[in-house]
Amino acid sequence: MRSDITLAIIKPNAVRTGKIGPILAMINEAGFEIIALKMVKLTKQQAESFYEVHREKVFFESLVEFMSSGPVVAMILRHRNAVDEFRKLIGNTDPAKAEPGTIRKLYGISVQMNAIHGSDSIENAIKEASFFFSEIERFY
Ligand code: UDP
Ligand code: MG
Repeated sequence: MRSDITLAIIKPNAVRTGKIGPILAMINEAGFEIIALKMVKLTKQQAESFYEVHREKVFFESLVEFMSSGPVVAMILRHRNAVDEFRKLIGNTDPAKAEPGTIRKLYGISVQMNAIHGSDSIENAIKEASFFFSEIERFY
């Protein structure tokens, strides 16, 4: 189904330490279909806009600084119940609390540098997918 998508971002810490390949392999093995993929370096303004909902949080500025500190890999993933299934695969926001075998447990190094983003709802998945990808960059 067209709506069974989520937006994932391999964060700068994981890109920097060579984890793109291992993370893509886990995504693949978990049965997600990659229907869009790109590597980009966000400007501070773009990172602010992406994390707009967190603007009032104490960690906002530092999160924006981190997310614009180096290239990230953004992708649209398709799967039945994609948002929830992907959040299971990535694990808790805090890598220390994430289940063994999850991406954040394996590759996250702190709450902020938790290796990967996953959308929290289908509405946000659709918005976030459009933030990164134009129509000719996605393949349904
Ligand atoms: N974050 C942070 N400090 C916090 C909480 C969150 O730096 O105390 C960062 C972290 O990178 C997280 C992102 O902000 O992934 C978005 O936070 P959210 O609560 O939406 O967590 P997520 O949906 O990514 O699990
Ligand atoms: Mg979130």
